[in-house]
Amino acid sequence: MEYKNEMTLRFNSLSVNEGFARAAVAGFCVQLNPTLDEITDIKTAVSEAVTNCVVHAYPKSLGQIEIWVGVSDQTVVVKVRDWGVGIKDIKRAREPFFTTKPSEERAGMGFTVMESFMDNVVVSSKDSGVEIVMTKRLEGKKAMLNRG
Ligand code: ATP
Ligand code: MG
Repeated sequence: MEYKNEMTLRFNSLSVNEGFARAAVAGFCVQLNPTLDEITDIKTAVSEAVTNCVVHAYPKSLGQIEIWVGVSDQTVVVKVRDWGVGIKDIKRAREPFFTTKPSEERAGMGFTVMESFMDNVVVSSKDSGVEIVMTKRLEGKKAMLNRG
């Protein structure tokens, strides 16, 4: 796909950066005239993906998290990646209520949340780390115009 606009962010795997990442992606998506619901969906999905990098990717150290966002017409693509420990069984990790950290009050619902708020979620575990690619088609502008 060709993108009309793209941006990349790279930051440390600190939980204080979760809010920053969420707000930055939302701010970038404003150019597509999203509805409030659509922006909330994207923020929620980005939060889950970034939190996973902070909590799971680098359990004993500090690492880097990278977010890339591309927009074209009414479609937003968000990639979140890390260079951490990776996921051995992706299919299992994506199942609702599956968590490797039950003792830390994790619900195992992060991937399920991403899937329900975005149109498509692709997870791949690389040689080093995990990459999540989330796509959402926004109807905001069209919906407003139709409302007349
Ligand atoms: P919750 O998101 O509800 O707090 P959770 O993070 O355990 O709980 P998911 O977000 O669905 O649940 O992730 C499921 C599992 O996938 C995690 O428990 C972890 O084992 C693994 N995982 C997810 N993201 C990563 C990552 N970036 N690096 C390594 N492992 C990951
Ligand atoms: Mg999670």
